[in-house]
Amino acid sequence: MNAKRLLILVFLFNIFIFYSQDLGKINGRLILNDLDSKESVSQKTYVIVKSKTYIDSVKVDSNLKFEFTNIVSDTIRLYLSPRSYPNNIFYRFYLNKGETKNLNLPYSPNCPYGKSDTCPICCKKDYVIPIVYGLIMNEQGKEADMKNYKSGGCVISDCQPKLFCKRDETEF
Ligand SMILES: [Zn+2]
Repeated sequence: MNAKRLLILVFLFNIFIFYSQDLGKINGRLILNDLDSKESVSQKTYVIVKSKTYIDSVKVDSNLKFEFTNIVSDTIRLYLSPRSYPNNIFYRFYLNKGETKNLNLPYSPNCPYGKSDTCPICCKKDYVIPIVYGLIMNEQGKEADMKNYKSGGCVISDCQPKLFCKRDETEF
């Protein structure tokens, strides 16, 4: 190898070191609301990371951890697939030069609502009323008496609470 080639190699290596020091890292872990689902979540859940110049995805490991390396400093969006219930949450944060971001992300693989008609706090049904979405009309076509219902608003999704405990002011 002649001296000129060696010089070029040293030069390229220095550039590599210079840039790699600037690259960031994301370490994270999913925090499950339901530990029974740990195995199935670890088998099929992907984490997707996007910025203007970067897109990558990894499957979580058996401990629900994941890692992304060599990321250029930028605004990062992170998504989970399958999504977490009840909302299709994505996370957005700024990754600084050379930063290692540690994330603990709550993850709920199933819709937590509609599984029981008993309040999860007092374990009773006597103060439980239905939550109704949209405008509620009675038989005369007037707005219904809301004492026996709770209004859930107008936005309807496939995962939202169905019942409300008036004692504990809890939706479930
Ligand atoms: Zn209750």
